Amino acid sequence: MRIAGQVSIDDIPKICPLLSRAANPQYGEKGTRVVDVAGVRFGGERPVVIGGPCAVESHAQTVGLAHAVKRSGADMLRGGAYKPRTSPHDFQGSGLEGLCILSVARQETGLPIVTEVMDPRMVKEVAEVADMLQVGSRNMHNYALLAEVGRARKPILLKRGMSASLCEWLGAAEYIAKQGNLDIVLCERGIRGFPSGEYSRYVLDLNVIPAARMLTFLPVVVDPSHATGVSAMVEPASRAALEMGSHGLLIEVADFRFGEPKCDGLQAIDAATLARIVEFAHEKSGVRSQESEVGSTEETQPSPTLKAAATLP
Ligand code: PEP
Ligand code: MN
Repeated sequence: MRIAGQVSIDDIPKICPLLSRAANPQYGEKGTRVVDVAGVRFGGERPVVIGGPCAVESHAQTVGLAHAVKRSGADMLRGGAYKPRTSPHDFQGSGLEGLCILSVARQETGLPIVTEVMDPRMVKEVAEVADMLQVGSRNMHNYALLAEVGRARKPILLKRGMSASLCEWLGAAEYIAKQGNLDIVLCERGIRGFPSGEYSRYVLDLNVIPAARMLTFLPVVVDPSHATGVSAMVEPASRAALEMGSHGLLIEVADFRFGEPKCDGLQAIDAATLARIVEFAHEKSGVRSQESEVGSTEETQPSPTLKAAATLP
């Protein structure tokens, strides 16, 4: 029986002519597109570690944490100025003031910034501060936002929808690519499963890492913080993700001396734990550089299809 709208991973080359490995043989079986974010290379020699608060709450909290993230050896700073909260009555982020704080944090530490944009009308403002734009799990299906960030000419961190299949996730990435922006990093952040909320927040889908890497040449990273929702699980989940081939990690960090975080305090780790994760990630770099020697197509010229996409408005 055939069902309307049903797709399988065999359809990915058709759904994603710009991003699927099969439709872009120049990447070979293992090559990864290196996505460069202000000198930080996703899919490069070693895994990338991004740390920072869930939300930008104050100058002292975010700039203080940025220095701690820097000292831990991590590569980039995260922090939401705009927060997608379950209740509209909860803290929604500090908005434009939060963006200003992020830019101070970058100035003081030199760490490139990734921050979420939720509204197509805000892409320009957020892109002025962000080195990388994050599309959150709840917005993975927001096609107007995907097209708008695709036009922003900034690298994109595309989180997997919490109930999205791999086909839907890659299809969402293709919306960004269709605007000529192939600088996309995929981020697995946990999916809904029957035990979600019982002993962990979501189910960390480790299996999707090799599956995604097989089907697309885009780098894939993991957010062990939202995937587990439990700070004690973040370090082992990070190691597991790297063992499964993740190109990096996006991790929430807190320092309770700045007060209890307004959101997601229970899943935040401290800077010392982040430093241990960074050390583990760096140990893996030997393996990575061998891999990229075999498979990297970083210098590969874009295919005619990619060139055509790059000239779209
Ligand atoms: C976040 O990383 O700040 C976030 C809100 O995550 P997600 O979109 O995965 O829930
Ligand atoms: Mn959070």
